[in-house]
Amino acid sequence: MMRNIVAGNWKSNKSINDAREWIGVMERDMDSLPDDVKVMIAPPAPYLALLVNLSSSRLLYVSQQVSATQSGPFTGEFTAEMLVSCGVDYALIGHSERRASYGETEEIVCKKVRCSLDAGLGVILCCGENLETRDNGEQEKVIRGQLLSALEGVNALEMEDVIIAYEPIWAIGTGRTATAEQAALMHKFIREWIAMRFDSETALKTSILYGGSCKPSNAAAIFAGEDVDGGLIGGASLNPEDFKSIIRAASSEL
Ligand code: PEP
Repeated sequence: MMRNIVAGNWKSNKSINDAREWIGVMERDMDSLPDDVKVMIAPPAPYLALLVNLSSSRLLYVSQQVSATQSGPFTGEFTAEMLVSCGVDYALIGHSERRASYGETEEIVCKKVRCSLDAGLGVILCCGENLETRDNGEQEKVIRGQLLSALEGVNALEMEDVIIAYEPIWAIGTGRTATAEQAALMHKFIREWIAMRFDSETALKTSILYGGSCKPSNAAAIFAGEDVDGGLIGGASLNPEDFKSIIRAASSEL
């Protein structure tokens, strides 16, 4: 069982040439990275098919976006089937930036999860509370609600294709990370919730990633939490050297 994962999210950054260069550096050094960590990258969607073809099978690809529908008259949308046909492995669903700025409601998140799993596309499901919720101590209630609605209709077998990313909104792109203790507590809560909603074997097998201003200087401390299986990395994934040190920090061989 391999739970350790480091996934990079470039968001809307990098030209195609910069992207190719990053992949080149990553591929060159892939053999020197710990082999108990799965490495994933989410480039801008227009680059996916090309980059997949430039990469070894060690580098898994994530789409930052996926349609909540099947194919049809939906201008600008791309479906889970299309992504699978391009060799993409996962879709990022429920990222707070999409929830906040692109109307990704709980209902849409749930539909995207369903469409992805039906198409054989893995899911990285993001959840996270805002600062007000954290200040009121209601973070567990909010996370429970997000997971419950996003995973409605999902069964234990399908959970093999689901990764959870806990991303406190107040820590994303702000330079302010959750403390190792805050992350550890929430990850434990999430694993216990999965055990209750599904079963303990499913809970043990599910990877739970931390996201929010994770960087080389703090990754090891955050990943030390028993239920923290790695990270979803925004800003620090843009630089391959930073990304590689975060991958090393996620290895259990440390
Ligand atoms: C993210 O967007 O998923 C993220 C964690 O961003 P950052 O690392 O830049 O905070």
